[in-house]
Amino acid sequence: MAAQMAGQPILILKEGTGRTLGRDAQRTNIMAARVIAEAVKTTLGPMGMDKMLVDSLGDVVVTNDGVTILKEVDVEHPAAKMMVEVAKTQEEAVGDGTTSAVVMAGELLKKAEGLLDQDVHPTVVARGYRMAAEKAQEILEDMATPIAPEDEKTLKKIAITAMTGKGAEKAREHLAEVVVKAVRAVADEDGDTITVDPDNIQIEKKEGGGIEDTELIQGIVLDKERVHASMPRRVEKARIALVNSALEVKETEIDAEIRITDPEQLRSFIEEEEKMLKAMVDRIKDAGANVLICQKGIDDLAQHYLAKEGIFAVRRAKKSDMEKLSRATGARIVTNIEDMSEDDLGYAGVVEEVKIGDDEMVFVRDCKEPRAVSILVRGGSEHIVEEAERSIEDALGVVSSALKDRKVLPGGGAPEVEMAKGLREYAKSVGGREQLAIEAFADSMEAIPRALAENAGLDPIDVLVDLRAQHAKKTGVNFGIDVTENKVKDMLKEGVMEPLGVKEQAVNSASEAAIMILRIDDVIAASKLDKEGGPGPDGGDKDFDSDL
Ligand code: ADP
Ligand code: MG
Repeated sequence: MAAQMAGQPILILKEGTGRTLGRDAQRTNIMAARVIAEAVKTTLGPMGMDKMLVDSLGDVVVTNDGVTILKEVDVEHPAAKMMVEVAKTQEEAVGDGTTSAVVMAGELLKKAEGLLDQDVHPTVVARGYRMAAEKAQEILEDMATPIAPEDEKTLKKIAITAMTGKGAEKAREHLAEVVVKAVRAVADEDGDTITVDPDNIQIEKKEGGGIEDTELIQGIVLDKERVHASMPRRVEKARIALVNSALEVKETEIDAEIRITDPEQLRSFIEEEEKMLKAMVDRIKDAGANVLICQKGIDDLAQHYLAKEGIFAVRRAKKSDMEKLSRATGARIVTNIEDMSEDDLGYAGVVEEVKIGDDEMVFVRDCKEPRAVSILVRGGSEHIVEEAERSIEDALGVVSSALKDRKVLPGGGAPEVEMAKGLREYAKSVGGREQLAIEAFADSMEAIPRALAENAGLDPIDVLVDLRAQHAKKTGVNFGIDVTENKVKDMLKEGVMEPLGVKEQAVNSASEAAIMILRIDDVIAASKLDKEGGPGPDGGDKDFDSDL
């Protein structure tokens, strides 16, 4: 590869290096990308089918979620990998719309291939696509409807739309309520900007019960039990101490510094240790705490003292949970117990240990204005709990995104039909060869309503004809395909809606990926030396470092 220098017509490649050039390179790249898009297309929308994925160890995942499917499948082809990246980017940016983005990208490439066959140069297609993508954002902005951040009813509809067809169907009203409350609780408002850090919403899963038993805790759930059976099971008006050091006398110090030669010495040493542990517990008690959550260990004797004082204690809590507990209860995490004071304590209405399924869990609930909350996801089996969790995550993503941009779009393919219409008009004003590319972009958008219809067992052509007829009218902007009643309807009125940000991101990442794949006319792949770290087609930055 190093031989690819300015003015050097000859490439000297290592033996075993694969090379595909020009149209062949484009064709195979497009083909690989389209295979990925076709694979997830049947899962799109409320009537989409699920995929069962079995990994090399035989573990099974049943899912309808585009990004989950793509993450689990081991793809080889570099262009196919770029499609998987589209889904991941979408997931990270907005948390939903992954299938849509991949289907759009696949369709853009399919239509581009048609243009390449007509000898339109890939750079022209790329330019046209870029212009179209920009115009599409404008069209989406124009058709979006503003919402108020306190409009929980609309936020719930957005959550429900994201969860429709995702297994958790039965309980989606309830889940939507949980999701909206959770996001609203942790949303940070700063003047006009609202931000939501997903880390502030903890998700705990426990098999058993039904999805409808999923609950929002105004606080944190710990997959832990209290350290001593004679501690209270339930503490009301909890004053919580968070400690990130051990309630132990360090053993290493004993080994290093103390040589015990006679029994008297041993006794005094044990007494000394007892005194130190007692002092720690006294300090916690004197600060006014009746609950202790410790990130490290708690010595048996300290457990005993804590129990005697009626203090509820948990040990070895996760660091990330400690931070959430701090945000939820207002407690400061203390390292040095000697310095602990009342000001360091946090508050929760109730701290209790509850048996959920077969395990004990600790609930820190009823916190005052908690800035971190938890969702305890329940369901009849592991698969159900996991698919419910994925729906909840999608819903958390859309509600956060809706709060951020406070603009919504109708679902059911309405924005795609509207984009197609607007882009066709725009194409005419552009003219030239780019016009062809913009028209191809317009057609590609309609792949979404088409797939929604197909997956619902409807005739996609009939549906598109109906949709286009509605969108030709001023009053038809929000019309999409209602797959539950198999009719073309005003989706906003039906309550099927999505945040503007999700659709904008989908169009953006789809067109960027398509353009990137189109512009490649030479694939030079080093021979596979080894699986790890060797220079391969996806070796990225580490390509040559591994030789050093
Ligand atoms: P993605 O990964 O792209 O979010 P989904 O399988 O969640 O894929 O499907 C999303 C699509 O389904 C969107 O176009 C959305 O508008 C549409 N949709 C959701 N609910 C409905 C509904 N009740 N009727 C019609 N379309 C719907
Ligand atoms: Mg979705």
